[in-house]
Amino acid sequence: MANCIFCKIIAGEIPASKVYEDEEILAFLDISQVTPGHTLVVPKKHFRNMLEMNSKAASQLFARIPDIARKVMKATGARGMNIINNNEEIAGQSVFHTHVHLAPRYTENDDLKLTFVAHEPNFPALAELAEKISKA
Ligand code: 5GP
Ligand code: ZN
Repeated sequence: MANCIFCKIIAGEIPASKVYEDEEILAFLDISQVTPGHTLVVPKKHFRNMLEMNSKAASQLFARIPDIARKVMKATGARGMNIINNNEEIAGQSVFHTHVHLAPRYTENDDLKLTFVAHEPNFPALAELAEKISKA
């Protein structure tokens, strides 16, 4: 797609530090490296984000992730990894071509800040919401 930075990387029009490539998928180092080894895994076909993907394209993308993640872990010696996918601006998406972040973790005080604030469970509300989602 025109003006998509990741499509340009896939087409070889702009450089990237590639770590894995096959017919459907490309993985390359994120330019800003939140932690050393921060990698992006992208489908070669353009989709705005995961919310627009069909199950076949999503399967192809996710099928590659465990192997690529283990390669990054092995090469970096990281102690763990966050695997993250942002969808739409409100969720932190800034490049609108589906990508999955592999962020190796080395210490608790690195530059990746990810916080889940826990709330007291409201079981009737959970049941109502689950039913609404299952029927959507
Ligand atoms: P998002 O915020 O959409 O989840 O993540 C987009 C990521 O793409 C960011 O972490 C950003 O550093 C990375 N990025 C943006 N432009 C480029 C680029 O030209 N090359 C590479 N390798 N990464 C990029
Ligand atoms: Zn694209």
